[in-house]
Amino acid sequence: ETQRRLLLERIRDVPDHPKPGVVFKDITPLLADPAALAVVTDILAALCRRHGATKVAGLEARGFILAAPAAVRAGIGFIPVRKAGKLPGATLAQSYELEYGTAEIELHAEDLGPSDRVLVIDDVLATGGTAEASLRLIRRTGADVAGLAVLMELAFLAGRRRLDPALEAAPLEVL
Ligand code: 5GP
Repeated sequence: ETQRRLLLERIRDVPDHPKPGVVFKDITPLLADPAALAVVTDILAALCRRHGATKVAGLEARGFILAAPAAVRAGIGFIPVRKAGKLPGATLAQSYELEYGTAEIELHAEDLGPSDRVLVIDDVLATGGTAEASLRLIRRTGADVAGLAVLMELAFLAGRRRLDPALEAAPLEVL
């Protein structure tokens, strides 16, 4: 509990970023603090073990930073879930609705399969659209979703409600 408080204290509110009226949750102070970075890595690796994950998926871009060290600590592999057009190999793609328009994410299909259980990691759960799409995408490879872990949730955006059907009873872990 003390550890969690230490982590949340290291997430900074930046008003009017990336546009007026938005308060952006900035995790760079947490990343810059070696004790906080170690604690978050340990917590995420423990979640991998608790939920029997065989792979960790990180959501571009801040999810990468959190997921890769957790994968190393847990002794399992890392899968980048990227914005469309970035991955060089054969991809599976999933599009999803934004407030205005649509977005698309991709992964390398050959890196996941039916023998995998994937813990998905991102920094912040906002509207839930990105996380929801990533869970659907991962299941389309035949892999199971071991859970979704985020450092924090912007509760006023009700991402949890949007996400709930896609979780299919997999756990949502908010540090
Ligand atoms: P969603 O799809 O849930 O609306 O948006 C989630 C994505 O946007 C995540 O990948 C997350 O990194 C990013 N995001 C949205 N709002 C914030 C924020 O206030 N702080 C940070 N660090 N990321 C955010």
